[in-house]
Amino acid sequence: MVSERELLESVPTQLWIGGRPVDATGAGTFPVHNPATGEVLTHVADATPEDALRALDAAVAAQDAWAATPARERGEILRAVFERITARAEEFALLMTLEMGKALPESRNEVRYGAEFFRWFSEEAARVHGRYLHAPSGTGRIMVHKQPVGPCLAITPWNFPLAMGTRKIGPALAAGCTMIVKPASATPLTMLLLAQLCSEAGLPDGVLSVLTSSHSGAVTQPLLDDSRLRKLTFTGSTEVGKKLVEKSANRLLRTSMELGGNAPFVVFADADVDAAVQGAMLAKLRNGGEACTAANRFHVHNSVLEEFTTKLVEAMESSVRLGPGADPDTTLGPLINEEQLRTVGDLVDDAVAKGARVRIGGKAPDGPGWFYPATVLSDVPPQARILREEVFGPVAPIVGFDTEEQGLAAANDTEFGLVSYVYTRDLDRALRIAEGLESGMVGVNRGVISDPAAPFGGVKESGFGREGGTEGIEEYLSTKYIALT
Ligand code: NAP
Repeated sequence: MVSERELLESVPTQLWIGGRPVDATGAGTFPVHNPATGEVLTHVADATPEDALRALDAAVAAQDAWAATPARERGEILRAVFERITARAEEFALLMTLEMGKALPESRNEVRYGAEFFRWFSEEAARVHGRYLHAPSGTGRIMVHKQPVGPCLAITPWNFPLAMGTRKIGPALAAGCTMIVKPASATPLTMLLLAQLCSEAGLPDGVLSVLTSSHSGAVTQPLLDDSRLRKLTFTGSTEVGKKLVEKSANRLLRTSMELGGNAPFVVFADADVDAAVQGAMLAKLRNGGEACTAANRFHVHNSVLEEFTTKLVEAMESSVRLGPGADPDTTLGPLINEEQLRTVGDLVDDAVAKGARVRIGGKAPDGPGWFYPATVLSDVPPQARILREEVFGPVAPIVGFDTEEQGLAAANDTEFGLVSYVYTRDLDRALRIAEGLESGMVGVNRGVISDPAAPFGGVKESGFGREGGTEGIEEYLSTKYIALT
C-alpha cells in the first residue's frame, strides 16, 4: 500500500489531452483541499478556454478511427481498464478519501461500483443492434442503423469522483464516441489518474481527455458553442443543469441530465421496522448523505413512527463514527467544504426554529475539517425548508402520515423525481406505491438501488436520460434510417 504522500506525488496534476499530461496554457494551477483538515493536498492545472479547444481538436482527430475500431476491440480496452482499476483499487480509494473526504469503506465501494461500468459496457460494446424489415406497405425495405453520436463533453460532480465519470465514459467509449471530461474542481485527481490508466490500458490518444478547471463556465463555453461537439452529458445540481440546457439550446446540442434529488423514504404500518431502519441507515448515510440518491425525508406511518425514530437514533448512536475518512475506525467522513457545512447546519437550524426536535446530532463539532454528525429530527413541520431542499448531508428529518393516500401524496410533493424508497410487507401495496411514485427509480424494501446493470436516472426536475443498463449506451448512439428498394 502506498503512503498518502507517495500517492499524491504519483498522480498526474496536469491536464490530460491527446493521451498525455500537458500544462494549462499560461501554466495556471489551482489548489485541491483535504476536507478532513482544510489543508492543500496539491495543485492541479487550471484549464483555459484555449485548452478546451485543444482537447476538442484531439477528440475530433481521434473520433473516426475510434468509431471504426471493431466493437470487440473497444470492449477489450474497456475490460483492460476495469482490470487495472481493480488492481489499483486501494490507490483509487485513498485518493478519493483524500480529496472528497468520504470514509475509506465508502471509497472502496465506489471503486467497485465505478470500475463495474467499464466491465458492463465492455460487454455492451458488442451488442449494439439495428433493425431490418420489409415496409408493411410493400414499397421497400427499412434498415435501422445505430452510429456513435461523436465527440462528447461530460461534466461531473464531486460526490462520486470516479463513478460519476465512469458511468459516462464507459458507455460513450463502448459506443465509439470520444469524450472530454470536466471533473468537479473539488475532486480533479481521481479523473486524472483514471485518464492515465486508460492510456496504459491501450486507449488511443485523444479518445479521452480531462480538463481540470477552477472556472467551469468559461472553460466549457467554447465547447458548447463549437459545432464539432455532438453531446453534453451532465451530472450535478438542477440549478447548473438548467443553465447548461439553456446554453445547449443554441445549437440544439444533444444532452443528458442527471440532476438533484429529494428522495422520500416511506415506511408503512405493515413494514418490517428493523429492516426499514437498516435500509434507512444505508439510504441516509451512504456517502455521508452526499448522494443524489440519499433519502432526504422520512415519511413514516404514525403507528410505527416512534418505534422507527427510536431505532434509527439507536442505530446511529451505536454504529456511526465521525472522523477523518482515512482513519480505519471512521464510518462517516467530513462534508466536502465549508459552504456545504453551512448549508446543512442552516437547514437543521431552520427546522429546529420552526419546531423540529433534535433526537441525535444537530451540531457541528469544532474544526479543523468540515464535519457534521449523523442527525435525526422528529416533529418536523411542513414549512421546514429541509423537507423541500436537497440536504446533501447526514440529516434525517422524520414526519408522520395516516393513510396510504397521504403517504404517497407527501412523497410526491416535490419538484424532484430521482428515486424513492418504500417499505411494506404487502406486495399489492408495494406495486401500487411503486407505480404511483413520481420518480425514475424506486427501491422496494431496499436502501441502496444503484446497479451498473440497471437504468439510473430521474423524471421531473431530476433530469432526463439514463445511465447504466442496456439503456445507458443509447445516450451515445444516434439512429439512422436507411431506405432500400
Ligand atoms: P454542481 O455545482 O452543479 O457542479 C457539477 C459540475 O458542474 C462540476 O464539475 C462544476 O464545476 C460544474 N459547473 C458548475 N457550474 C457550471 C457552469 N456554469 N458551466 C459548466 N459547468 C459548471 O453540483 P455539485 O455540487 O458538484 O454536485 C452535487 C449535485 O449533484 C447535487 O445536486 C446532486 O444531487 C447532484 N448529483 C446528481 C446525480 C444524479 O445522477 N442524478 C449524481 C450525483 C450528484 P466546479 O466544480 O468547478 O463548480
